Amino acid sequence: MASVLIKELYKSFGPVEVLHDINLDLADGDFTVFVGPSGCGKTTLLRLICGLEEITSGEMYIDSEFVNDVPAAKRGIAMVFQSYALYPHMTVAQNMGYSLRLAKFPKNQIQERVERAAGILQIDHLLDRKPGQLSGGQRQRVAIGRAIVREPKVFLFDEPLSNLDAALRVEMRVEIAKLRNDLGATMVYVTHDQTEAMTMADRIVVLREGWVEQVGSPLELYHHPRNKFVAGFIGSPKMNFIGSSFSGAKDDQSKVELPGGAEILLPVRPEGLEPGAPVELGIRPEHLIEGWQGGDAALSGQVFVVEHLGGTTLAHVRVPECKARLMVQTGGESPLRIGDEISLGLTAADCHLFNQDGAALGGPGPGA
Ligand code: ATP
Repeated sequence: MASVLIKELYKSFGPVEVLHDINLDLADGDFTVFVGPSGCGKTTLLRLICGLEEITSGEMYIDSEFVNDVPAAKRGIAMVFQSYALYPHMTVAQNMGYSLRLAKFPKNQIQERVERAAGILQIDHLLDRKPGQLSGGQRQRVAIGRAIVREPKVFLFDEPLSNLDAALRVEMRVEIAKLRNDLGATMVYVTHDQTEAMTMADRIVVLREGWVEQVGSPLELYHHPRNKFVAGFIGSPKMNFIGSSFSGAKDDQSKVELPGGAEILLPVRPEGLEPGAPVELGIRPEHLIEGWQGGDAALSGQVFVVEHLGGTTLAHVRVPECKARLMVQTGGESPLRIGDEISLGLTAADCHLFNQDGAALGGPGPGA
């Protein structure tokens, strides 16, 4: 297995720069997830690691070896694509062993590796079938098996679960996490799905428009998003934002006035803020407690949509005093109905504060 070090990497296609000043250190055996909206550069970054794209400037090292000029085939990396790209005329076993045949491995070694990978992925009974006789999930396993047999230093996955239905995605997510434990492999995984990122990653790299916005463990990003973009992207359902104003500092904490005039003292340092400065208060739906009067602030509003998800209920609440629509997560058995007038309690320690530029203010802040 191997580490991957990326230093001051830039990538342009013609005159258009799509990745800017990327610096990443992916540790040996780590499961790193690149996440971000469509077009932010996730796949391009993966293809650069793999050697399928040329680096415009910067340096890349795999296990301390400078690899900028090392061709893809010699990097010891295997990539699993969203489209499984299996050869339809070959059996599962032939598909899985193809790269080893090309590399002129002896037949018995190919068979041994294919059988071992098929065992890990529980597709031993499918080895004689053709891809056309397999389900989507089974095809994806074959594509992963094809990577495993190569015994690569690093596995790269490019949205490998996008073509699967919701239930199968969850199943394969668990399979890939298990695979990672079984193989102890260094893995880099690309997705635009923050739930996949949160559930699978040791470390998440959040990208936006070719910039790395933040790198951290799932819980670091959840508790300490560096800016409003990461705060809104990580966590499901999405964080609520309330346009507010900074009303002054008290004991190195920030007094924030909500649009209705209510004031809340937040445990964040008021760095660079002048009284009256516009700020945004962020609060996650799971931290708005319906009917709770004992918090550091209370809001009242009217429910306009209720979504029953079984284990939880999501209520969409219009809060006129804040000129906001907030999402509230409550218990699965919640009796809330459209039109209900409710109050919402919140704790200052659960709130995040963002300045006008969207930067999060003053650690250690909530969750520390
Ligand atoms: P998605 O989630 O939609 O796959 P992504 O985050 O993986 O998106 P990339 O495919 O890496 O994004 O694309 C990043 C940017 O680079 C986009 O603006 C895209 O249009 C551009 N791009 C990618 N490949 C090329 C190419 N071969 N030539 C020109 N521009 C490209």
